Amino acid sequence: METVNDIEEIRSKISTPKEIVIITHRNPDGDAIGSSLALQGFLNKYGHRVKVVFPSEYPVIFEFLAHINEAIIYDQDRERAKQEITNAEIIFCLDFNGLDRIDTLGPTVDEAKGYKALIDHHLDPEPFADYYLSDTSASSTCELVYRFISELGEKRKMDLDVATALFTGLITDTGSFTYATNPNVFRVAADLKEMGVDDYTLHDNIFNCWSERQLNILGHALRNRLKTYPELSAGVIYLDKKDYLKYRIARGDTEGLVNYILMIKGMKVAAFIREMPSGEIKLSLRSKGDISVQELARTHFSGGGHKNASGGSSKVSLEETIDRFVTVLPDFLK
Ligand code: 5GP
Ligand code: MN
Repeated sequence: METVNDIEEIRSKISTPKEIVIITHRNPDGDAIGSSLALQGFLNKYGHRVKVVFPSEYPVIFEFLAHINEAIIYDQDRERAKQEITNAEIIFCLDFNGLDRIDTLGPTVDEAKGYKALIDHHLDPEPFADYYLSDTSASSTCELVYRFISELGEKRKMDLDVATALFTGLITDTGSFTYATNPNVFRVAADLKEMGVDDYTLHDNIFNCWSERQLNILGHALRNRLKTYPELSAGVIYLDKKDYLKYRIARGDTEGLVNYILMIKGMKVAAFIREMPSGEIKLSLRSKGDISVQELARTHFSGGGHKNASGGSSKVSLEETIDRFVTVLPDFLK
């Protein structure tokens, strides 16, 4: 599904220096961070004053990306983040489709007077923006930021930092070009590599950065917290509050854990269900082929995302959440 507005209005808006804010979703991932920093680097070339706002802290593995340490983190600097959004003339919303994805900043963005531009690849974008470049067939928001810059005819304003930030989102949102790909991703990757992106080092920075503790968490999850349901072609990994405390698990420590389930031959649906130290229950869902975990997450877990990668939350206990997932799953198996 595609919603793409005419680019001329936004072209004229960015043609003179403006106050611009770029905001992305809570718990920003490689695509959220990469697209935000790339767009910032690009817009800086026009002489704008551009601020990036992350609702919550970014994973340390992305610290190597240029200018990431200049981003405003709302959780740490609430007043400043709100003020920048309220004063912005243009607000770019990247890699999210609805204002609930930026938590309590949602109302601030909603009420802000600035021109709002949404660049995103999630299903069901909400109608809060003035300009949309929304395409669910895109691998990543980084692919769409590349398209945005190309359609402006301004590729020469991409420097190596911009290209590297864009390549980051291509890698992280496609599992290094294994899922959610399309012919264009490879063209974009080739173009970025031609601009000088060192994809080997980028990979090394992003993937070969585990600590021994993180490997131990993975070991514990795979050995003691994996349940499989062969009759449903599904598996669940769960972690409870005690696991979080015992292994001192932080947000980034469980990134990608859900994907291990799909490595078992025949598995088509995977769920990582966790009881956070706060008591909150969160789900990460993945599927193969035509099975839509987006519909499952939206219908039963107040969530959403993409057809094959979604997330959500639950108000009942960890055990009941696992039971509910297993009970409703047959309705979504095609
Ligand atoms: P992850 O499982 O990696 O946290 O998220 C997978 C996908 O689901 C991402 O595209 C993310 O935006 C989406 N997602 C995760 N949690 C939620 C949620 O609570 N609500 C919605 N609407 N989407 C979510
Ligand atoms: Mn994305």
